[in-house]
Amino acid sequence: MTKRLTCDVVVVGAGMVGAACAWYAVRAGLDVRLVDRGPVSGGTTGAGEGNLLVSDKEPGPELELALLSARLWAELAREHGAAIEYEPKGGLVVASTAPALDALRDFAAGQRDAGVTAVPVDGGRLAELEPRLAPGMAGGVHYPQDAQVMPALAAAHLARASGAALHPGQAVTGVLRTADGTVYGVRTDRGEIHAPAVVNAAGTWGGDLAALAGVRLPVLPRRGFVLVTEPLPRMVRHKVYAADYVADVASDSAALRSSPVVEGTAAGPVLIGATRERVGFDRSLSLDAVRALAAGAVGLFPFLERVRALRTYAGFRPYLPDHLPAIGPDPRAPGLFHACGHEGAGIGLAPGTGRLIAQALTGKAPELDLTPFRPERFDTDGGDAR
Ligand SMILES: Cc1cc2nc3c(=O)[nH]c(=O)nc-3n(C[C@H](O)[C@H](O)[C@H](O)COP(=O)(O)OP(=O)(O)OC[C@H]3O[C@@H](n4cnc5c(N)ncnc54)[C@H](O)[C@@H]3O)c2cc1C
Repeated sequence: MTKRLTCDVVVVGAGMVGAACAWYAVRAGLDVRLVDRGPVSGGTTGAGEGNLLVSDKEPGPELELALLSARLWAELAREHGAAIEYEPKGGLVVASTAPALDALRDFAAGQRDAGVTAVPVDGGRLAELEPRLAPGMAGGVHYPQDAQVMPALAAAHLARASGAALHPGQAVTGVLRTADGTVYGVRTDRGEIHAPAVVNAAGTWGGDLAALAGVRLPVLPRRGFVLVTEPLPRMVRHKVYAADYVADVASDSAALRSSPVVEGTAAGPVLIGATRERVGFDRSLSLDAVRALAAGAVGLFPFLERVRALRTYAGFRPYLPDHLPAIGPDPRAPGLFHACGHEGAGIGLAPGTGRLIAQALTGKAPELDLTPFRPERFDTDGGDAR
């Protein structure tokens, strides 16, 4: 079938991941349209935090993607640092007891072997890094590669600066496929856009977008609340969190998990994030969740007890059953590429994802092995869901 092409690539979803895909695809010489049914950053990107962490990842494919992304964030920051509020502030993970410190140091040793810079810090020296930290901690590990951006700003800035044509307020209602199954564009509520490649960067709704193309991708929401304090002078210097946060991130439990990550921001408020629970798309305020965050944060930084919380907000992390994103071409629907399901790390992992997608789109060898991220890995029958 001959179709007049509108562009080379349609990226569906203008969150952090879609913006990064657009950025690297345009840099690879492609003509890109970035389509979102709402505004740029109107999905989870505008409802989360901007921690760019290597510190919370165990050795494996996600850590490799985080290390690639950390390098790319630093590269992007050279050109756009101020516009995206990039701060290479480093992370500090602390343990309150000797057994927790032993476990943290073992974890850090494995990360070091995988290329992470992880520097042990004795309990007595923690105050040099964080003067307002609760006294009496057993020790910690300093991760200089951890950084921070303001995610909504970073996505909006990169989307605009990418050179892609932006289509906010345009919902994708179908994925167009020829009789032999090849994807040739999308149907939207404002007409069709024809392209030989469609990138699914629809975040928590990535499963719905996949279903429009007739394939299965089991992306589900994992809710998180963030607590925002009144603006303060800089009192928290790093990304600071307790060692048990890593276990919460990896947990498969549906129940509320709430070890806090505390960070100062350029604008002044301290962000205390984030809870994790599986409650579907329920947006109602959970006082239990917010109280647990506040208590955990005061445990790390006692001065926060006297600070007012201004507001709280919630978002839905896009997660897949094995907690790895789907990145790369979908053999069940040639021309469809996935870049979604990054759970609580989609801001950090966005540039690496965008670069890998651009390489896949242009037939280049991917910088990382895409096998662990294969979108069809959840198929039991290996087939197409149409
Ligand atoms: C409380 C909380 C804290 C977090 N903290 C961090 C953190 O510190 N660091 C970190 O790295 N990550 C963090 N995350 C996770 C991170 O926010 C997400 O992984 C990331 O935002 C996902 O980005 P995305 O571009 O894939 O999805 P989104 O930002 O959700 O973008 C997807 C877009 O697709 C659009 N869309 C969907 N369907 C369609 C359709 N049919 N047609 C057109 N458009 C469509 C949506 O409107 C949306 O704008 C946090 C998340 C939460 C909830």
